[in-house]
Amino acid sequence: MKKTTKQYLEYLEMSGIQDIFFEERKMNSTEKFEKLKAKTLKCKKCELAKTRNNVCFGNGNPNADLMLIGEAPGAEEDKTGNVFVGRAGKLLTKMLQAINLEREDIYIANTVKCRPPENRDPKAAEKIACLPYLEKQIAIIQPKIILLVGRVAAINLLKQDIPLKTFRETTHLYQGIKTYVSYHPSALLRNPNWKRPAWEDLQKIQQDLENLK
Ligand code: SF4
Repeated sequence: MKKTTKQYLEYLEMSGIQDIFFEERKMNSTEKFEKLKAKTLKCKKCELAKTRNNVCFGNGNPNADLMLIGEAPGAEEDKTGNVFVGRAGKLLTKMLQAINLEREDIYIANTVKCRPPENRDPKAAEKIACLPYLEKQIAIIQPKIILLVGRVAAINLLKQDIPLKTFRETTHLYQGIKTYVSYHPSALLRNPNWKRPAWEDLQKIQQDLENLK
């Protein structure tokens, strides 16, 4: 507290004013986002903090209309601290470009921010510990459309344990936000037959984004 402010408060107190309340300055969304990022980068809430090299908070435009959410970082992500890098990331970049989007146009994150060792599935306790960071990211970004890639991300956010095929049959609502579920780019690398349905999902999203204009 500045010396002059402190002196003024002491003066008010001596004048008989006992309780002084300050209205906390409201943070704008950029400040909230940076504060959340700083907190996440220091997080040690679960076991994954012991083995990670970097916390992969997310990348892209925090004012984006579209937010894409995957499962958890892999080895490349852990090395760099960025999400969706490596082969799956390159494929994702191409898929987005096919609907006239650059990665910087959207926001990309994972449901779990630190890499599970040997790329194992995140444990329930890790998913529960990490979910509030994603929930806050979504609340600040307020995307118009969410795209969940992979069944694990879909189960984690939509709280339904159903096959990916069933998730894809309809759109969902997450906190009132229209939400699509589609294939994870890693799955498309393993099974190119899924590229066609994934492309159909992307076209629907492209149409929705056009309709927002
Ligand atoms: S995975 Fe999430 S909860 Fe666990 S240490 Fe990393 S940031 Fe924290």
